[in-house]
Amino acid sequence: MSERYQEPNPATTQHAIVIGAGMAGLMAAKALLNHFSHVTLVERDTLPKEPDFRQGVPQARHGHVLLSKGQQILEQLFPGIDDEMATAGIPRIDWGKECSWLGMWGWLPHFESDLQTYLCSRIRLEWMVRQQLVKQPRLMLLEQCQIDRLLVNEAGSRVTGVVVRQQKQPEMQLIADLVVDTSGRNSSLPKWLKQMRYSAPTETKVTSFLGYASRWYERPTGYKADWKLLVIMAKPMAIKRGGMLLALEDDRWLLTLSGANHDYPPTDDAGFLDFARSLRSPLIYEAIKDAKPISPIYPYHRTENSWRHYEALDRFPDGIVVLGDAVCGFNPIYGQGMSTAALSVQLLDQLLQNHQGDRVGFSQKFQRELAQMLKDPWLMATSEDFRWDETEGEKPSLMTRFMHRYMDQVAKLALFDEEVYQTFVEVIHMLRSPSSLMHPKIALRVLRVLLQPSKDDSPPLQEQLEVGSKASC
Ligand SMILES: Cc1cc2nc3c(=O)[nH]c(=O)nc-3n(C[C@H](O)[C@H](O)[C@H](O)COP(=O)(O)OP(=O)(O)OC[C@H]3O[C@@H](n4cnc5c(N)ncnc54)[C@H](O)[C@@H]3O)c2cc1C
Repeated sequence: MSERYQEPNPATTQHAIVIGAGMAGLMAAKALLNHFSHVTLVERDTLPKEPDFRQGVPQARHGHVLLSKGQQILEQLFPGIDDEMATAGIPRIDWGKECSWLGMWGWLPHFESDLQTYLCSRIRLEWMVRQQLVKQPRLMLLEQCQIDRLLVNEAGSRVTGVVVRQQKQPEMQLIADLVVDTSGRNSSLPKWLKQMRYSAPTETKVTSFLGYASRWYERPTGYKADWKLLVIMAKPMAIKRGGMLLALEDDRWLLTLSGANHDYPPTDDAGFLDFARSLRSPLIYEAIKDAKPISPIYPYHRTENSWRHYEALDRFPDGIVVLGDAVCGFNPIYGQGMSTAALSVQLLDQLLQNHQGDRVGFSQKFQRELAQMLKDPWLMATSEDFRWDETEGEKPSLMTRFMHRYMDQVAKLALFDEEVYQTFVEVIHMLRSPSSLMHPKIALRVLRVLLQPSKDDSPPLQEQLEVGSKASC
């Protein structure tokens, strides 16, 4: 049960608490230092001293790509982190030149671009960000501590802190002006709200039953490639399988294979290799078949899109906000999770700047504005998932089906038209809204094709573009 606790005195308790030290929590804690005199970040795991796996973030064993938008916001939050990555030897990728990408309709062109990010393993990224954060003198990190429940004021209208449990230690009460829940997909906030006599949010789920399996390799000595990231996409409905091979720091490769609609990649050596061989292009298989594995094969199947609609609640207590996967988790194949968390933190930072004082009604306002921001990444992930016929969730509208046809044409145009490609990639990197692809300059070209008789709807030069043209890569 939530406990009644004395109203904190704003004059003496300029304190914020963040629940969970994943990527959303680390970024949120840094932004909160702009607004509160002290920030406490509470994490239930033991946090590794060196970049390493930990129980609370099982997804870290799998391929993670930080999109340009996320990289930009990370640098704003932690000035100098880009340089630190460069100094640490994290490979920098030019997305135009160094990503070889077999999209649905063929290999995307290579071009000089200013879209550049770092290809950093998830464990290293989180560790580097954490190292930066703990240097902040007004930040306290409590590890091996689990938030058990919330404290609320007499009226039950405001969260005033949390109750922390640490193994065999007695419980500890921490009071705060703001609690930020970034505890991920298993967040207890719906349960805590019910304990406070609020409604739990409804949840929308869309799942294409995608499964991942990943393995780490030593990069073969002297291996020459014109890519740092090799992506082979599935092709609904015909081919459910895809893969991405990332050239990461410390001369390691990480191969993540994926299969939609229950076509899960196997986790035994032979099955994993066979799955890699069965992709639309042999390039990934050829690269890794003789490479030395340095890890087991890790499976991961919890990939559904899930959105808890806090924005729709009539009543929401003050003193707490929630963001990151705890609100909205995406099918990871689109690589949007960390960048969306970064955008959410940026929004929180801006709103806190505009709402000083007692911040009555702030939490509800934040959740509503957050929901507006989440619409674009949600639409991008779920509408793509509805290309698969076994996908479960609210059924795709006529608009979604039209968008599939429209996006197919955009993707085909992007194979030949540099301007369309540039916009397409910038949308994928969350630098522009998907509505940019509806700009008249692009829409007219697309509609011209769509309005032609159906024989013209066949993919252009697809046969040549798929396996053949890249065989020498
Ligand atoms: C397989 C996979 C691949 C992905 N690939 C990408 C990608 O390529 N690009 C991308 O941007 N995103 C990717 N994502 C998404 C990304 O990992 C997350 O969206 C992002 O890390 C934000 O997560 P989070 O911090 O909200 O939650 P989490 O990462 O789940 O972190 C939550 C933290 O809270 C802690 N915690 C939980 N409960 C409590 C409690 N009661 N008390 C204290 N601590 C608690 C947990 O231990 C954990 O540390 C991927 C996800 C998956 C599953």
